[in-house]
Amino acid sequence: MANLTEDAIMELIGLWQNFLKLNHWEISVTMRDRMENSKAAKVAADYRYHTAEIQMSKTVEEEEIERVIVHELLHLPIGAIRSVVHKFTDRITPMEYVLILDAEESAVELLARVLTETFTYLEAVKEEEKKEADKAERPSWY
Ligand SMILES: [Zn+2]
Repeated sequence: MANLTEDAIMELIGLWQNFLKLNHWEISVTMRDRMENSKAAKVAADYRYHTAEIQMSKTVEEEEIERVIVHELLHLPIGAIRSVVHKFTDRITPMEYVLILDAEESAVELLARVLTETFTYLEAVKEEEKKEADKAERPSWY
């Protein structure tokens, strides 16, 4: 069970929103006791006004929250393709539309994993460099 507060989650969203160059989006978050199909989260976006609401399950594990947030944020730029395709749903079958949704889901999840794992790796490198710098600054007489 995640015990991050909505404020802490909004802070993470702000950090990644900035990192992903999504500052022109107004994003809100709502925590839910349960989500349909036991999903971790979902996002509803309005591409005209660049507003989005992320709904997140309170049951998301704390170590999963960042990846879940990045996943939902990536749906904003990548989902823009789906939102255009949606205008042509009279020309494609519902099955073809589902294939497009699945392709979006796969791309978003892959990028979310790559980005969060890279970020975690860079944080570890930074921490290691800090430790080395602290060691070097220590006086040699003790
Ligand atoms: Zn998704």
